This record gives sequence, C-alpha cells and structure tokens, in this order.
Amino acid sequence: MYTCSKCKKETQVLEAKFTRCQYCGCRELYKTRQPIAKEVSTD
Ligand SMILES: [Zn+2]
Repeated sequence: MYTCSKCKKETQVLEAKFTRCQYCGCRELYKTRQPIAKEVSTD
C-alpha cells in the first residue's frame, strides 16, 4: 500500500514500474508503514 504525497490517499500499486496515484495521478508516492505490533515482555 502506498500513500500519495499530494492528496494523502492510499493507493494500491500493482506494478512497481508504474507507481502513480490512481486519484490525482501524482507520481510521488511513499510506502505506507504499517504499525508493527511488538510483544514486549516486561518483568
Ligand atoms: Zn494523489
């Protein structure tokens, strides 16, 4: 999943060579970081 740098909408990029926002056509996308749930053991 990628997030457009202009309209801030999440867009799916099927092909890595064709990274473009499907809403506004902006080509500046960045990967959406998914929060990783870490298990921390606190003793
Ligand atoms: Zn966009």
